[in-house]
Amino acid sequence: WNAAELIRKDQAHHLHPLSNLYRLRQQGPLVLVRGEGAWLWDAEGNRYLDGFAGLWNVNVGHGRRELAEAARAQMEEVAFVPTFFGLTSPPTIELAARLAELFPDPINHFQFTSGGAESNETAIKIARYYWWLKGQPERVKILSRQMAYHGIAMGALSATGVPAYWEGFGPRPPGFIHLTAPYYYRAGEGMTEAEFVAALVRELEETIEREGPETIAAFIGEPVQGAGGVVVPPEGYWPAIAEVLERHGILLILDEVITGFGRTGTMFGMQQYGLSPDIVSFAKAITSGYLPLGGVGVTDEIFDVLSSVDRMFMHGFTYSGHPVACAVALRNLQIIEEERLPDNAREAGSYLLSELSELLDRPYVGNVRGKGLMLLVELVADKATKAKFEPSFQLASKLEQATRTRGLIARCTPEGIVLAPPLIITREECDFLLEAVAGALEDVLG
Ligand code: PLP
Repeated sequence: WNAAELIRKDQAHHLHPLSNLYRLRQQGPLVLVRGEGAWLWDAEGNRYLDGFAGLWNVNVGHGRRELAEAARAQMEEVAFVPTFFGLTSPPTIELAARLAELFPDPINHFQFTSGGAESNETAIKIARYYWWLKGQPERVKILSRQMAYHGIAMGALSATGVPAYWEGFGPRPPGFIHLTAPYYYRAGEGMTEAEFVAALVRELEETIEREGPETIAAFIGEPVQGAGGVVVPPEGYWPAIAEVLERHGILLILDEVITGFGRTGTMFGMQQYGLSPDIVSFAKAITSGYLPLGGVGVTDEIFDVLSSVDRMFMHGFTYSGHPVACAVALRNLQIIEEERLPDNAREAGSYLLSELSELLDRPYVGNVRGKGLMLLVELVADKATKAKFEPSFQLASKLEQATRTRGLIARCTPEGIVLAPPLIITREECDFLLEAVAGALEDVLG
């Protein structure tokens, strides 16, 4: 590879998503050319541990020949068949049937998309359409939470609870209400966990009363909030929230885009909290990122309502149920099960969490938290006041540089360092990651 030439072309022609375009013009991108297991190589031959599994999605690791073979075999058979107008193909059928086995009952019916935002758009539209068909067309409002990340398409963006994603993009559709995140470290200040949960439940009850339950279609939430700051909800939070929603007949949409397919230590995040949602959205690790694919699952009850009328369901994407992506997903799910990757996520995750907690004796490490292989080391300028470093983006950028210099790709945010390696990570690789994190923190903060 001619690294300099690639960087020059990228700077000249690639408008990067979710990147600092100003800095990219000056510094250029990091060009990654090869991957194997938990490792990536750049165009100059440097090796990095992929501490973020691509974007929380490469659960089976890089370079899996089986997935390339599954894609090739399906492409040679037939590369594209639509799922509109009652058409379909064997991998799409088999994947829906496999997911019905994997998801707890009564989630038994699936529609596919190309990613997480499209899945959440679909989930929100299905919830509204369900109420419309049931003769309650005024049930349209969507409850979500601060710090939530549901994607950047307009509907998903409106459910997203991080204002930085809205700035500069004009008005958002109405009808989205954000509740407090179950972020005990900051929002639960001065309360026990149980008091904090009670306060969040009260807030939900009051919101429903104020808005009127007859105007609310659904509540959407990630079992463990990811991109907004790895928020692991306190004990008792989810069952209490689910009980209130059920009492008011409000649908529960679980966004399993990150937590689905093993990352938290069980196949789905909902299993960590004993949840029984009406709709689930998923994407990312369903193919471990080898091809773009997402989707939603709905209960028998919702499917019965949707299919009870003799009319078209006017929603779907050209690539809904793409046969090649579905073939890759089927093979990928087989690997996740055969290699017991949820178990490894649980074991490696608890090892990393306990080792990272050693960093709490440093003056700038405020909190360390995680569930399975979703982890965050939260940084503070002052431990007593929990004040953040300012300007926080500058710290994030320095940490990004320092971790990369130490051969680790991690997500460095204003909150701190987010870690979500592939679920195949070994103990040795965990130790490499831990050393790189500890070293990078020392390089930047002393
Ligand atoms: N939902 C969650 C929980 C996510 O973390 C993400 C992406 O990180 C999305 C939705 C959006 O997915 P996509 O980027 O595939 O649209």
